[in-house]
Amino acid sequence: MPKLKMPANLPDPIINENAKIVLNRRYQRKDTEGVVYETTKELFWRVASAIAEEESKYKKSSIKTADLAREFYDLMTSYNFLPNSPTLMNAGTDIGQLAACFVLPVEDDIEGIFDAVKHAAMIHKSGGGTGFSFSRLRAKDSVVGSTGGVASGPLSFLKIFNCATEQIKQGGTRRGANMGILRVDHPDIMDFIKAKERDGELNNFNLSIGLTESFMQAVEKKADFDLIAPNTGEPVGSLNARDVFNILVQKAWESGDPGIVFLDRINRDNPTPQLGEMESTNPCGEQPLLPYEACNLGSINLGKCFAKGTNGKDSEINWDELKRIIHLAVRFLDNVIDASQYPLPQITETVEMNRKIGLGVMGWADLLYQLKIPYNSQTAVDMGERVMKFVQDEARSASKTLAAERGHFPTYVESIFGEANLGPYRNATTTTIAPTGTLSIIAGCSSGVEPLFALSFVRNVMDNDKLVETNPFFEDAVKEADAYSGSLMEEIAKVGTIKKMKHLPEELRSVFVTSMDVEPIWHLKMQAAFQKHTDNAVSKTVNLPANATKEDIWDIYWKAYEYGCKGVTVYRDGSKTSQVLCTGDGD
Ligand code: ADP
Repeated sequence: MPKLKMPANLPDPIINENAKIVLNRRYQRKDTEGVVYETTKELFWRVASAIAEEESKYKKSSIKTADLAREFYDLMTSYNFLPNSPTLMNAGTDIGQLAACFVLPVEDDIEGIFDAVKHAAMIHKSGGGTGFSFSRLRAKDSVVGSTGGVASGPLSFLKIFNCATEQIKQGGTRRGANMGILRVDHPDIMDFIKAKERDGELNNFNLSIGLTESFMQAVEKKADFDLIAPNTGEPVGSLNARDVFNILVQKAWESGDPGIVFLDRINRDNPTPQLGEMESTNPCGEQPLLPYEACNLGSINLGKCFAKGTNGKDSEINWDELKRIIHLAVRFLDNVIDASQYPLPQITETVEMNRKIGLGVMGWADLLYQLKIPYNSQTAVDMGERVMKFVQDEARSASKTLAAERGHFPTYVESIFGEANLGPYRNATTTTIAPTGTLSIIAGCSSGVEPLFALSFVRNVMDNDKLVETNPFFEDAVKEADAYSGSLMEEIAKVGTIKKMKHLPEELRSVFVTSMDVEPIWHLKMQAAFQKHTDNAVSKTVNLPANATKEDIWDIYWKAYEYGCKGVTVYRDGSKTSQVLCTGDGD
């Protein structure tokens, strides 16, 4: 428990109605009877003080712990920045596991497989999500040396992981989320591609196919590619790459599953190749990691960094304020590494070697609304690239400052940064764009770098009352345009978008777009723009209308590869929705 006393003059946080419900249900501390005994003010102070207290370990730091705790408190309660959910839930408590993202190895023997099941259970209990590559498991029907029997293959084991996750239900925090990856050249690949074709199957997993550069080249040439037995390294068959790609597209068209990740692209950015390859990501795909590695994330609310133009100047971004927030957030996330207790010694060891953090952004659509830039425009894409370059440059500069105070990450010398003489940095990675499923509810902003889902919608509240909830920036703009009325808002709530409302001013209709109004190509261009300046990956869904064709998805998958994305997820309106929930209320 943190030792710092709460200052008497600490202001109460202002909490929006939805955040009150989420915080109360999942984040505030409860007694053994399940009664909440922590106020939201105590919650944010618990987190701020626990993370600030790590500062006292570093003798070269001249910052007073109490001052830093107050700065962290203000940083979070102004909703300029929030750390990932496990930090909010567990900092300063006996659980003390603060990271959202883990990758665990799955070895090709019974002991290794069940070790991974057990380790995943321990991580889920603390609110973290796990990713696994099943590529090392020998194929179905191959021989098991010790018994002379036949192996049951990755899919049968995947079901065990899924079932174990189902049973844990994470007393008090959240149910587990998993990523399962299989390399495209694994002999069981066709079964894996079809694994989620029945609704509800493997519902605690997101599945992705690990595509390689040579596979993509084979698709282009319509050539065959070899399937390789993981246990022997020998080719055991071949498939036509174009056929496999077509089936992948077909399945994604039907249900959104499986997604794809580009393994070679991911490993091109591996900062520590001397420690091995990255073979999987965390559940929502934004964080590739080494086996037994964990990463804590945090997100800056860009909607708060808007600067209204004065004296005839155009509205802009408050870059100085953004810089201040980035530097403070990087210190926060580096302290989180020290404050966190990991469930396994191997994880502690890997985390301490690389000290990865993932600072990202949310509220991007809110910022664009305020800047009056349509999401589906080159101006927005260019601005996205500029903002993320700034975040990454400043995050790295902050990481350098920390390295001078605290030392560089232990594997720095042989890392890509050490080899290129770019550092020294405190952290092997600094940036990741998370989905911010729950954080965006707490901060009351748009999530990650996604467009807004609906400008206005009807929310059912407890006693069957219906409330029309409208995006505040949209509401302001409608009022400014003198077009506001209660009935208009109700009309908008029925469809979510104003795209077809010709009676509204053209500027409103072009700026206030929603995810369904944004053509797939702009979703993808935006993802690529942010990826360009993100060390880890970008969580993004390319939304498609119900009448999108398989060719549309083919095109998106191919362009994602060409644009240098690390993976891609599509969702066609109305197709089955068995995606793993990644929000705090996911049970
Ligand atoms: P949050 O907003 O709650 O901090 P995000 O939606 O940004 O979380 O997701 C970030 C990561 O947190 C995910 O990729 C995953 O690793 C982990 N995560 C999210 N939801 C869950 C869940 N229900 N159970 C376990 N881990 C989760």
